[in-house]
Amino acid sequence: MGGTELTGLTALELGAAIRRGEVSIPEAVRAALCAVEARNGAVNAFITVTARRALERAEKLQAEAGRARSPLYGVPMAIKDNICTRGVKTSCASRILGEFAPAYDAGVVDRLAGAGAVSLGKLNMDEFAMGSTSETSYYGPVRNPWDLARSPGGSSGGSAAAVAAGMGWYALGSDTGGSIRQPAAFCGVTGIKPTYGTVSRYGLVAYASSMDQIGPLGRDAADCAAVLDVIQGRDARDATSLDGRYGGLLDGLTGDVRGLKVGLPRDWYGDGLDGEARAAVLAVADVLKSRGAEVVELSVPVMDYAASAYYAIAAAEASSNLSRFDGIRYGWRAEECGGLDGLYAKTRSQGFGPEVKRRILLGALVLSAGHYEGRYQKALRARALVRDAFQAAFERCGVILAPTAPADAPRLGEGQPEELQARPGVAYTAPANLAGLPALSMPCGLDGKGLPIGAQLIAPRFGEGALLNAAHAFQLDTDWHRRIPVGRGGGVK
Ligand code: GLN
Repeated sequence: MGGTELTGLTALELGAAIRRGEVSIPEAVRAALCAVEARNGAVNAFITVTARRALERAEKLQAEAGRARSPLYGVPMAIKDNICTRGVKTSCASRILGEFAPAYDAGVVDRLAGAGAVSLGKLNMDEFAMGSTSETSYYGPVRNPWDLARSPGGSSGGSAAAVAAGMGWYALGSDTGGSIRQPAAFCGVTGIKPTYGTVSRYGLVAYASSMDQIGPLGRDAADCAAVLDVIQGRDARDATSLDGRYGGLLDGLTGDVRGLKVGLPRDWYGDGLDGEARAAVLAVADVLKSRGAEVVELSVPVMDYAASAYYAIAAAEASSNLSRFDGIRYGWRAEECGGLDGLYAKTRSQGFGPEVKRRILLGALVLSAGHYEGRYQKALRARALVRDAFQAAFERCGVILAPTAPADAPRLGEGQPEELQARPGVAYTAPANLAGLPALSMPCGLDGKGLPIGAQLIAPRFGEGALLNAAHAFQLDTDWHRRIPVGRGGGVK
């Protein structure tokens, strides 16, 4: 098979071809590296490409391919740059981490290595995962492969853009308030944020620890299920991680959704939602209905306050988490600082970008004596309301179907601070993080501008099986997940 044909396969299809001996692992890695060579200059999805490592690992894995068990054995992928990789720069797209190369691999990286994954390198993102457009990166913005003048979304914009542009068959991202799902939607790929606690955060550079989760972005639900099967489960090095709660996701993809109750929260389909997005997402309900699901209208009245609560809590946790970057323990240090206080001040003022500084200030404010009760505690109460609203909804349905974002990918360079620009969008994704619920986004259409539209599915805790199966059912009957951007090789089919 030629390189272009190879990059058209899903991760599972490639894995199967490798196990059958039809494709060698070095061949797959070379095809991916060719795609990186051809497209990364324009897309800027990678901060670091580890070509030599990938080729060496491919040779080694190929020698043992006869004993391969994992469906993802030998399949090239890439990793968001806030996930630690031993000896490979992990910058969080920030100047302050400079050439920081961790001494250890994240828990998820260990697991994937055990399953025979080959990493192509580290992916660009919003600095410290704070942002919605992947423009706050110290390494320059990521561009959307569907339209290079547009953002791929964020913060896992590099992860979504890499998969969309055929630079790796799947990617790891992280999602604190929507950072896997929203870029997945803008780039026409499938991505899932797992139930809080089910995937180890060991080695994930913390943004807001009570909401951060690592998850996969891939071509379709089956690829995401296969990755989640590998990375989920308890890790003693993460105190919040839970015992395996949903084993065998891939095996559970039957496409049978008979009797599944799909809830449509009418408050999420209001005025703020673009008309084309509304129609495309509602069409998902029709497809599931034609497969025997039942659609119920309900309300999950959280849109008015979820974004405010989210920003207050995320900033509070970020201001504390980012205090460790002081110029002494990790990465980059400013020069000629004049004393310890000067060293902290100069390193942090020059090392962090403006969005990160805004979050640290906002977090310090909401945690300060005069504002703690009025802002932080109030946000925590709002968080409890979000949890209750979902709980009530899940008494009436098995999964919730909603838009992932209110509109398509924005143009680059609108230059507004996150708070103003992204607020309406975060309202669609952050509720699942506030409540710790699993949620996925899958492509469900292209709008008049030829840009992808994403549909979001949300389930109760540990409901990954139901989520992925509903997405799989939709993908059996439709081909939105097979569409690829023009110029990627093949054009939009
Ligand atoms: N855009 C949101 C923020 O900036 C979400 C980011 C994320 O999920 N990491 O906080």
